[in-house]
Amino acid sequence: MLKKAFLVSAILISFVFSAFSVTYVVGTEASFPPFEYVEGGEFVGFDMDLIREIGKMYGFDVEIRDISFDSLIPSLMTGNIDIIVAGMTITEEREKVVDFTIPYYSADQSIMVRKGEDTNLTILLRKPKIGVQTGTTGDLWVTENLIDAGFLPKTNLIRYDTFNFAVRDLVNKNIDVIVLDNPVAERFTKTDPVEIVGIIKTNENYGMAVAPGNEDLLNMLNEGITKLQESGKMDDLIEKYFK
Ligand code: GLN
Repeated sequence: MLKKAFLVSAILISFVFSAFSVTYVVGTEASFPPFEYVEGGEFVGFDMDLIREIGKMYGFDVEIRDISFDSLIPSLMTGNIDIIVAGMTITEEREKVVDFTIPYYSADQSIMVRKGEDTNLTILLRKPKIGVQTGTTGDLWVTENLIDAGFLPKTNLIRYDTFNFAVRDLVNKNIDVIVLDNPVAERFTKTDPVEIVGIIKTNENYGMAVAPGNEDLLNMLNEGITKLQESGKMDDLIEKYFK
């Protein structure tokens, strides 16, 4: 009798678990190729593969939500999303608010201009109109080093919600420069008439982020990243998206 009751409850428990498999809501900003972008109506890219692979390893589903970059941390804090995977640089300021995983990719900033106009770095001395994505490290760099330092009028900095609009405005000559992460700039040189005229060595590291105190999730993500690095799967993804 006891045996039977045990069996029934075991079956019930496994049924309940399979019926309610865990889904994590992942926040990203999907105009950041090749890390996250939309193709054929799907969210694809290096970051998207990364989090889906970790999901496969630990048995959780991933629901992607496309949010403006500067709303990602607020969305995490209000519990609208569980994880940020958005090529987000680990910075001291952000670390005060959220918990980052170990780094999974490195980047610097690029000075990107329209192609074929013989532009070089001196464009920065000619008071250009500079586009950035709001709240990014590129935004921060221009604000601190050009605006606050008095080299560029405030009105010459144009902030965009998505890089797609920024690149369109650059190509259409509404702005002259975009400052953005180098791997993404590299990618835009392959899809749009733009080129890179300079690199700003910022030595950034990308991490995924969770709400503070969400230790179990953070440990799982860290372990997942480590396992993907050790198994060579990370290198396969780098090969797939960056070569
Ligand atoms: N790595 C940059 C940052 O964290 C840009 C990220 C992005 O635009 N998705 O600010």
